[in-house]
Amino acid sequence: MNTKEILEIENQHTSGVYAKQALTIVRGQGASLFDADGVEYLDCSSGHGVANLGHAHPKVAEALYKQANTLITLFESFPNDQRAMLMEKITSLVPGLDRVFFCNSGTEAVEASFKFARISTGRKNIIAAMRAFHGRTFGSLSATFNKKYREGFEPLLPGVSHVAYNNIEALEKTVNEETAAVILEVVQGEGGVYPASQEYIQAARRICDERGALLIIDEIQTGFGRTGRLFAIQHFGVTPDLLTCAKSLAGGVPMGAVLIGRHVQNLTPGVHGSTFGGNPLSCAAANAALDIILSEDLPRQAEVKGAYLMDRLKRIQSPNIREVRGLGLMIGIEMKQKVALYLKALQERHIIALNAGMTVIRLLPPLVITYEQLDHLVDVLSKVLIAEQKDE
Ligand SMILES: *Cc1c(COP(=O)(O)O)cnc(C)c1O
Repeated sequence: MNTKEILEIENQHTSGVYAKQALTIVRGQGASLFDADGVEYLDCSSGHGVANLGHAHPKVAEALYKQANTLITLFESFPNDQRAMLMEKITSLVPGLDRVFFCNSGTEAVEASFKFARISTGRKNIIAAMRAFHGRTFGSLSATFNKKYREGFEPLLPGVSHVAYNNIEALEKTVNEETAAVILEVVQGEGGVYPASQEYIQAARRICDERGALLIIDEIQTGFGRTGRLFAIQHFGVTPDLLTCAKSLAGGVPMGAVLIGRHVQNLTPGVHGSTFGGNPLSCAAANAALDIILSEDLPRQAEVKGAYLMDRLKRIQSPNIREVRGLGLMIGIEMKQKVALYLKALQERHIIALNAGMTVIRLLPPLVITYEQLDHLVDVLSKVLIAEQKDE
């Protein structure tokens, strides 16, 4: 199929819930993507933080091929070698989180964490942060802040409220004996790339402990090396009670997980479950992905490349830039204008980047991006960001 045919069919049959690009992508390699005509694009989105290992990693492909020829599906009631291996591997990475629940996406991991928090504490209320993004199914949507995602879908889950992010006083005032859990992102992604302060995350841990609430850290976007640590929470010396992850967990294959600490109780048979959760195919992909993340030391690569990119971005002299911020290879460039036209200009120059809200350009390149590619990105960005973008 050529580009025109693909676009025509998708536009005719789409559900309508996606703003479709006029660009087809049919192949990937490392940090590069290719359209149906073979034109190369530099991927600075990683599918919203999924492709941390780069596209078409041969070791993930090999693991998938082998496992597909062995066993694809198995309900979690039946123990399995690939799943056991992954359980052991992933729980060894975060001291204090010794159990894990597997599911298939980020929003499902958040849903599970809310159910676990309620059944464990016997309390109902969940406190989330303003600007937070935790997913789009009803439970997680209730914790997502932006009206844009919520409007038209009320009533949402009762007992979920939002407090100002990075504001200790707001947590002090709100968390109480009826709070089941506080859920936070360590760096707010969708909300505009806002990193949490040390004091804030540490205070959140203390306040939850004092009031008997659980702390859920949502690492769906920040996990697996993105911010310069395997998990972003490791910058803070804090152990959450529940840690949600997904996106890059299985090297691009759909998978989510909740890591579970020892204060979480009452997780007995039948309390929760998932048909596809912990299937051997996804587990094999995740085993391969974790091996690659550790052997190629992708967290360190993100730290060093992130610092390099941040430094070069901060030197771009443009009256249109308000702020450059982030952690590791999770970087936001806040502009004084809406960014849609900047993103369009980048795409015309074969760079795929994301927005985070109306005024922030979000860069989430694969952690395997080369320095040559980073330099190219900065060169193109400097040109695009200096020019004022005007509606045609
Ligand atoms: C992407 C994301 C989610 C939702 O994940 P899905 O797999 O799209 O359901 C939840 N929380 C955060 C922080 C995310 O970035």
